[in-house]
Amino acid sequence: MRNDSCRKCGNELEINQNCESCSEPIEFACHICGIITEKQIHFECINKQVLVI
Ligand SMILES: [Zn+2]
Ligand SMILES: [Zn+2]
Repeated sequence: MRNDSCRKCGNELEINQNCESCSEPIEFACHICGIITEKQIHFECINKQVLVI
């Protein structure tokens, strides 16, 4: 799975946060601009976490 590029500078975004449940990246950051992308929420994973609790 490829990361998106920063809309501002075109730099490849780095993973800022992974999903606690499936370990896939859900949030990316551009270290040049200091921008953090919108979080991609995994509703299925959230439901799994609720079931575990
Ligand atoms: Zn950037
Ligand atoms: Zn997930």
